[in-house]
Amino acid sequence: EAEARPAAGAAAREILKRVFGYDDFRGDQAAVIEQVAAGGDAVVLMPTGGGKSLCYQIPALLREGTGVVVSPLIALMQDQVDALLAVGVRAAYLNSTQDGIERARVENAYLAGELDLLYVAPERLASESTKRFLENGAVALFAIDEAHCVSQWGHDFRPDYLGLSELADRWPDIPRLALTATATDATHIEITERLKLGRAKHFVASFDRPNIQYRIEGKGEVRQQLLSLIRREHAGDAGIVYCLSRKTVEQTAQFLATNGVNALPYHAGLDAGLRSRTQSRFLREDGVVIVATIAFGMGIDKPDVRFVAHIDLPKSVEGYYQETGRAGRDGQPSTAWLAYGLQDVVQQRRMIEQSPGDLAHRRKLSSHLDAMLALCETVDCRRVNLLGYFGQASTPCGNCDTCLSPPEAWDGTIPAQKLLSTVVRLQRERNQKFGAGHLIDILRGKKTPRVDQYGHDELAVWGIGSDLSEQQWRGVVRQLLAKGLLAVNDDGFGTIVLAPASADVLSGALTVSMRVDTTTALTERSSSG
Ligand code: ADP
Ligand code: ZN
Repeated sequence: EAEARPAAGAAAREILKRVFGYDDFRGDQAAVIEQVAAGGDAVVLMPTGGGKSLCYQIPALLREGTGVVVSPLIALMQDQVDALLAVGVRAAYLNSTQDGIERARVENAYLAGELDLLYVAPERLASESTKRFLENGAVALFAIDEAHCVSQWGHDFRPDYLGLSELADRWPDIPRLALTATATDATHIEITERLKLGRAKHFVASFDRPNIQYRIEGKGEVRQQLLSLIRREHAGDAGIVYCLSRKTVEQTAQFLATNGVNALPYHAGLDAGLRSRTQSRFLREDGVVIVATIAFGMGIDKPDVRFVAHIDLPKSVEGYYQETGRAGRDGQPSTAWLAYGLQDVVQQRRMIEQSPGDLAHRRKLSSHLDAMLALCETVDCRRVNLLGYFGQASTPCGNCDTCLSPPEAWDGTIPAQKLLSTVVRLQRERNQKFGAGHLIDILRGKKTPRVDQYGHDELAVWGIGSDLSEQQWRGVVRQLLAKGLLAVNDDGFGTIVLAPASADVLSGALTVSMRVDTTTALTERSSSG
């Protein structure tokens, strides 16, 4: 009897082969499965595509009872369950999309011990009745997917996750694992504390996605830039283009479609049926480009997405990493391309200033944006910066824009002083504040109706910056904003004001090194007043 029973490792391998059809485990999978199958807790940090699902699916099959999977992605539960049913795993889900009959059917199956895996939305698990229901059956393990959602300082906090700490008290003997594809050191600690995983083993894989080439460039005619990226490097490839607003999604999809790209829009404002048809076309057809708000892509497992493009600045490095991580899950060379400009910085700073919530909340948003801007403005390897953000040290990668063509730096101290003096003079002498566009017009000595209206050609700073082009000036303003040496006012108009650190630049105590922008189409027009 004892001889006939294979060791946990061998049993896991047998399931890997027989049920899932794979020959070998990847990375930490075998070790995580061993830990959890033996009844231990685990915290698993693994990049997108690393294979987190098997880390709980196989222990759930090895252990007595049902593996309960907490996932915030209600829209995807159906897909996950379908995929499991297709390979003969008895899986089901409980969420708000079901009617009473369907729910009762799933509940009965669980109580009868007929389920290997049960997916549950976090808000469901927060309710006492669900917990009592689960107690009436046998739980094999709890898997908490997207565990970074428990972090209040993270980019994707979900209050329902806080209630999951109770699982430790209610089921002290049942193993629990927390899994995420994005966690800074601070978030990792928060996951461990809030989910009461003090006795867990930690499995931290490298977050590096070596096949993804990271590139960030200045924003000019951004749709044209995007089109030329697709035509030159990704003709006929599947890709995702992320935008911040629904309007930009619609316009960009339209633009690409009229230029021969098989592009479809996707955002939360579109009808649910259409969204689901769009999603399945993306999964099943070749070469579909989805233009989407961040609502798209969570948990979508399409291995051959060849490029992810951002035409608006993401709000955090975590978000950027997650979104770009949807490229190249198959390990083949893929592109993560981002275009951003002065307007992105002004707009996001303005949004933060006006966001509801307390000061602490605004500070959090602000520090997320600062980290994103630091990644954009770095003259060093993008990957080193990105991995460093997640607490992982690395060496220059040779596969990002800054490694492939190192950006030149220039001493921007004098232009910075000219700009700051203009802000100071307008404020002190005239008690006026303006947006970047008008400040640049003054510096370059450009006659406009507004200059005439305010008599700004009489200022001492009029025309002192005619040595730089408008585009160069926009780069200067953007980089000063990114470095916190200039600020966006909280008046809602995006006017430019001094930051506390501006004084050091004006006094000459601080020199400002800037990167030379490498933009393919330098035609961004000023739209701020
Ligand atoms: P994650 O949740 O970490 O993003 P998934 O669990 O969705 O990753 O796995 C990503 C892809 O890799 C899936 O298509 C999955 O079937 C495949 N995969 C996972 N583990 C293995 C393995 N050991 N061998 C081969 N393919 C695997
Ligand atoms: Zn690099």
